[in-house]
Amino acid sequence: MSTIIDGKAVSESILSELKDTVATLKSAPGLAVILVGNNPASKAYIGMKKKACERLGIQSFEFLLPTESTEQTLVELIESLNEREEVNGILLQMPLPKGFDEQKMLQLIDPSKDVDGFHPENVGKLLIGMDTFKSCTPYGVFELLKRSNIDTEGKHVVIIGRSNIVGKPMGAILIQNELGANATVTICHSRTKNLADVTTQADILIAAIGKPYFVTSDMVKKGAVVIDVGINRVDDPNTEKGYKLVGDVDYDHVINKTSAITPVPGGVGPLTIAMLMTNTVQSYQNKHQA
Ligand code: NAP
Repeated sequence: MSTIIDGKAVSESILSELKDTVATLKSAPGLAVILVGNNPASKAYIGMKKKACERLGIQSFEFLLPTESTEQTLVELIESLNEREEVNGILLQMPLPKGFDEQKMLQLIDPSKDVDGFHPENVGKLLIGMDTFKSCTPYGVFELLKRSNIDTEGKHVVIIGRSNIVGKPMGAILIQNELGANATVTICHSRTKNLADVTTQADILIAAIGKPYFVTSDMVKKGAVVIDVGINRVDDPNTEKGYKLVGDVDYDHVINKTSAITPVPGGVGPLTIAMLMTNTVQSYQNKHQA
């Protein structure tokens, strides 16, 4: 029997702990969210972030810039938010419209307010094991494993995907010499040869590919833990919207091989916002305890 890891429940407990912490603070932490353009998925994400802020007593500041805005307008906004006392976290919603240099814009954010953990300074600190903001989705997976009592020490973790927002920071977190990490990590990508030979060696397999049902049963070792980061839309005429969300793992066929598995939706997804809130509160505390 496989344990189905309940990401919603884990995220609820993190949010409720944070709410208690925020209630003890002298003032409300503040999170600024910037959206350039009208991407509907991005709009939905920032709506969810705003709701989470309201629930916890975190102030949220929303900046909606039209698609045709210039890079200079965004530069000036970020620079002004870097200066504002009541703003502890700055989140620049990706993707930016064509013509914007995403890396350049991310690097303008004051690293002490970079609650997404994307600034090179924070990425570097993460890699060398310094205390810093961890990128929210891999940080969420780390918490999910810890709070589900899944031991990572000495375990072989295989990650499929090497993106800067999921795969690479995931590896950087799990190789650290600290509680909840200490894993032996392999990162795979599209040029990896004989992928299934690698993935079947995994005690813990983390899929962050962006391809529905990619991880099939023959790619999984019996008794492995499978964490599915993927969120993909597939057509489903039986639903009202005409589509449903599925992960990167062929869940129905893989589940019987696993000792534990995350579903999609309801697995890793809810953790990302919970960790964004965690980083925002952390940023406030760093400033006020410094
Ligand atoms: P990404 O930037 O597109 O990266 C995908 C990675 O998968 C790349 O490293 C790519 O390799 C690798 N890959 C693609 N095809 C492969 C193949 N056939 N064999 C092996 N590796 C392959 O995606 P991402 O931003 O990391 O996101 C991954 C998934 O996670 C998506 O479904 C996304 O929606 C989801 N996601 C979820 C959350 C959440 O909150 N739960 C947050 C972020 C992302 P190359 O580098 O060689 O191209």
